[in-house]
Amino acid sequence: MTGPLLTAKGVSRSYRASQPGWFRRPTRFRAVDGVSLHVNRGETVGIVGESGCGKSTLARLLLGLSPSETGTVRFDGTDLAGLDTSDWRALRTRMQCVFQDTGASLDPRLTIRTQVREPLDIHRRPDAAARTREVLEMVQLGPHLWDRYPHELSGGQVQRVILARALALGPDLLVLDEPVSALDVSVQAQIVNLLKDLQRDLQLAYVFVSHDLGVVRHVADRVYVMYLGQVVEHAPKAALFSAPRHPYTAALLAAIPAQDPEAPRTRSALTGDPPSPHVPPAGCRFHPRCPHKIARCAVESPALRDLGAHRVACHRAEDLAPPAPLRPQTSTPSREYA
Ligand code: ADP
Ligand code: MG
Repeated sequence: MTGPLLTAKGVSRSYRASQPGWFRRPTRFRAVDGVSLHVNRGETVGIVGESGCGKSTLARLLLGLSPSETGTVRFDGTDLAGLDTSDWRALRTRMQCVFQDTGASLDPRLTIRTQVREPLDIHRRPDAAARTREVLEMVQLGPHLWDRYPHELSGGQVQRVILARALALGPDLLVLDEPVSALDVSVQAQIVNLLKDLQRDLQLAYVFVSHDLGVVRHVADRVYVMYLGQVVEHAPKAALFSAPRHPYTAALLAAIPAQDPEAPRTRSALTGDPPSPHVPPAGCRFHPRCPHKIARCAVESPALRDLGAHRVACHRAEDLAPPAPLRPQTSTPSREYA
């Protein structure tokens, strides 16, 4: 089958607002609001944005773990809505998730080997024992660790186990939700490099979700930037990092810790927290924090439009010159990445 491996068109998910406060009736809000994206075979798509912008909710929609209220999600051409149990079983072997709660993803009472083997047994794979050894080797966990328990492992080793488990059934796509956010910088780099090696060897596609644009720049081929449940910019990585077109993307970039302390800080970093997604601002959702807003931004929501290599939702995208590119990054932590 040709075409993208995964396609989401206009997907949404709403939740009940947890603290309605003075509202009489509980209100609902859209944590993900009409998001479209695609993932090609063998590529890495980054999804970035501040905490609470809907990244994890979107990840669950892409995996079919919760149904989308609008639009469609297709994996290799198959609409996830309306799949029966046996279709799901087959599809699960091709699409796996690695979630951020590393502590909760493993069972503390089971050995590493048992947990990696579990999906293979569920799918009644006759080669379960051999395949378990194979994937544990792929993630570079030595045999001396295979019969240990999760608490005996370091954070980086635990993340390798979770990865081995996700790889066991030979998927085409991994959805990785903040896969390295809980790890030290040097361990982050090791896991990121392992992910890159696995991608090259196994032709895997990744959806790499992170609040940290600094990590995404080391892995992604294309990046979607989310703000309050919506995509505000989408571009190939090089274009996004050298010349962001949405003021929010520019602000996120400016917030990446300076890697060259000598470099002039020409961009203003983002100030303040994002507004509550329960009551998103009218017009452009970013306008209350935007240094470039005009009157129109407060009343009219900008649609995503093509602008060169970018797709950007900003009324001022054409009249704002792209900011000067950041200086090449030379010092730590980027040198840790191969
Ligand atoms: P991110 O992963 O970008 O931090 P999430 O997708 O986890 O964002 O959350 C998006 C918004 O939806 C947040 O405001 C969050 O509080 C809310 N949210 C997430 N899960 C639930 C839930 N199960 N019930 C109610 N609100 C939720
Ligand atoms: Mg999240």
